Amino acid sequence: MSLVNENFLLLTPNYLFADIAQKVSAYKALHPEADIISLGIGDVTQPLCPAVIEAMHRATDEMASAQTFRGYGPECGYDFLREAIVHNHFLPRGVQLSIDEIFIGDGAKSDTGNIQELIHHDCVIGVTDPVYPVYVDSNAMAGRAGANVVYMPCNAENNFVPQIPDRHIDVIYLCYPNNPTGTVLTAQQLQQWVDYALRNDSIILYDAAYQAFITDPSIPHSIYEIEGARKCAIEFHSYSKTAGFTGVRCGYTIVPHELSATTGDNRRIPLNHLWERRQCTKFNGTSYISQRAAEAIYTPEGKEQVRKTIGYYMQNAHHMLATLRSLGHEVYGGENAPYLWMRTPEGYSSWQYFDHLLHNAHVVCTPGVGFGPSGEGYVRFTAFGTHESTAKALKRIKELKN
Ligand code: PLP
Repeated sequence: MSLVNENFLLLTPNYLFADIAQKVSAYKALHPEADIISLGIGDVTQPLCPAVIEAMHRATDEMASAQTFRGYGPECGYDFLREAIVHNHFLPRGVQLSIDEIFIGDGAKSDTGNIQELIHHDCVIGVTDPVYPVYVDSNAMAGRAGANVVYMPCNAENNFVPQIPDRHIDVIYLCYPNNPTGTVLTAQQLQQWVDYALRNDSIILYDAAYQAFITDPSIPHSIYEIEGARKCAIEFHSYSKTAGFTGVRCGYTIVPHELSATTGDNRRIPLNHLWERRQCTKFNGTSYISQRAAEAIYTPEGKEQVRKTIGYYMQNAHHMLATLRSLGHEVYGGENAPYLWMRTPEGYSSWQYFDHLLHNAHVVCTPGVGFGPSGEGYVRFTAFGTHESTAKALKRIKELKN
């Protein structure tokens, strides 16, 4: 008899965005004429920049000749990309990393989902609430649910800054700039988390997928800008939103050599080696073409082109923030992040406001409660639309009564 992994049965039946897609297609089936604009799922709309496209063409041509063809690559990534990351992303911020601390992967979803394999099944994890669902669901699949998960509420009352716990938590997921709230942590606030982790021998899993959208120069782009973080933090990066790689797939994870965890008999085990071992066993590398594409982002032209595209999205964010606030809505985020987090008008739950916008404005948002109980009473908008569709959606929202 094959017994099923019953942990999967604890998950909500659908991934949040599948639920939204279902609702939208049901509405479309009844109203085929409706011109629906999505400010819901966080996919990008702008094409890859020319530097990336040229690099992909060159890499594809290399694949066409026996002399330059590449088969399986190194599981943890090509050195050319790891070096480009160190020199262009970290060194200018005063962060020293060695290339074997960088693991190239196919994006932050896989790595943030898989990293929990390194920790004991009984560990207690802490997540902000609302939260990117992958952290919670991947732990639930591994049997960490219920009492093993501590939710740290983030709401308008605490300015969306999770309170430092007054109890021990083994592993803490932090995502800044935050999805879904679009809020950030200052260096001082992040230092408090690092200090907590060092005091408690905890690990921080820091998701920096949206660091490229930070505009305030005082906000840290990496947790390693904070003193002590190399001893307690793993950091995740993604090229998805940074450079439009949602369909190309590339990202990377940093596991510093100083980071270790304890065995039952009190031995310290460095996690860098464990992650390398895990990746070499279960992952066969990101494609050569994707890695050459990512490398191109660090050329002078690539940097400029990527900066422009991010500026394009942030223009949307600023426009959305100004318009929604002018309509009297309570809105957060949108200044250092491509997400806006809006309190629903009086009398609407998250899903009720989702339906209201879909039915009456043909605009799709994401119900905040889909990201956790503290998201009830909020919706998320993304700034990844085109200028035209964003302006159209805002015009329709303006025309609504609330
Ligand atoms: N982390 C956060 C917080 C995200 O919002 C997303 C994508 O929406 C990801 C990770 C996944 O990124 P990737 O496309 O690199 O897998």
